Amino acid sequence: LLFIAVLIAAVLTACGGGDKASTDGGSGEAGFIGVSMPSKSLERWVHDGANMEKELEKMDYKVDLQYAEDVVETQVSQIENMITKGVDVLVVAAIDGDALTNVLQMAADSEIPVIAYDRLIKGSEHVSYYATFDNFKVGVTQGNYLVEALDLENQAGPFNIELFGGSPDDNNAYFFYDGAMSVLQPYIDEGKLVVKSGQVGMDKVSTMTWSAANAQARMDNLLSTYYTDEEVHAVLSPNDGLAIGIISALKNIGYTDLPYITGQDAELQSLKAIIAGDQSMTVFKDTRKLAEKVVEMVQAIVSGEEAEVNDTETYDNGKKVVPSFLLEPVYVDAENYKEVILDSGYYTEDQLQ
Ligand code: BGC
Repeated sequence: LLFIAVLIAAVLTACGGGDKASTDGGSGEAGFIGVSMPSKSLERWVHDGANMEKELEKMDYKVDLQYAEDVVETQVSQIENMITKGVDVLVVAAIDGDALTNVLQMAADSEIPVIAYDRLIKGSEHVSYYATFDNFKVGVTQGNYLVEALDLENQAGPFNIELFGGSPDDNNAYFFYDGAMSVLQPYIDEGKLVVKSGQVGMDKVSTMTWSAANAQARMDNLLSTYYTDEEVHAVLSPNDGLAIGIISALKNIGYTDLPYITGQDAELQSLKAIIAGDQSMTVFKDTRKLAEKVVEMVQAIVSGEEAEVNDTETYDNGKKVVPSFLLEPVYVDAENYKEVILDSGYYTEDQLQ
């Protein structure tokens, strides 16, 4: 009987404890770290959480990893719980960058330092560090791709483009959009690119909660309102999730030869869409590298040292300029995905079948 009980326990452990604090990995000798992630709706966050957990446990930290399924109140109460449980450091990828001021005050009252993960936390001086990718550059990479794909240097066009932005409560969304527009706007001004809907600016093109369904609905609408007798040649999509929604809208209305469509995150579904020729590109942000960087920051904080940063000007959260480490985003398309994604072991060939 004992044997069976042990066996069942072993199987349960192997199946993973879901969102529960993992006590089987790190001994906790190095400390206890709370990791708060926005949701599992995108693969990238699943990778982020898993990598953080793995890296921290390797260094003998105990980890409490939680996902809030994109509900702000859930994230706040998960962080409150972590504070109550006595974590030494909090690592937070915020759902709404403006909604954590109170809970961060609570953390500060308990002397728990906070690292903003991937997304800036705004309106609080209690953010020690920020680790992310160069978000402006993500947008620039997407913009440059469209300029090259349409050969705008040599072609007069005009080409029709529609613009999509990320969630307005995510600080990154503005950086992605501004980065892309820093490249595209001159061509719009010149008339080589035409936004037939006239919907330009984050107030017009954002997509609440990064919802692919919302992006699809907006694309449906744009197509039936502005493109009954004209074609869309390019779509600026800030990430892969939205690109998939946009592609569905286009296919549903009969497009077989799809416009150039950008993305971000190197999600499996999008890599498959890139291989199939439906999506044009994505921007790969290696979550393993981000996790490594954040673990370094955790280590520095726990040992009372300064963490290495490479940007001390860009990320003003309204209360302070948060010392940041920006990693390099990498451009991926059908030509180089094998080298960038497969050779680096991010995904296997089988996963792309
Ligand atoms: C991240 C992107 C992600 C998006 C939606 C952004 O803050 O930087 O990688 O696609 O959120 O989850």
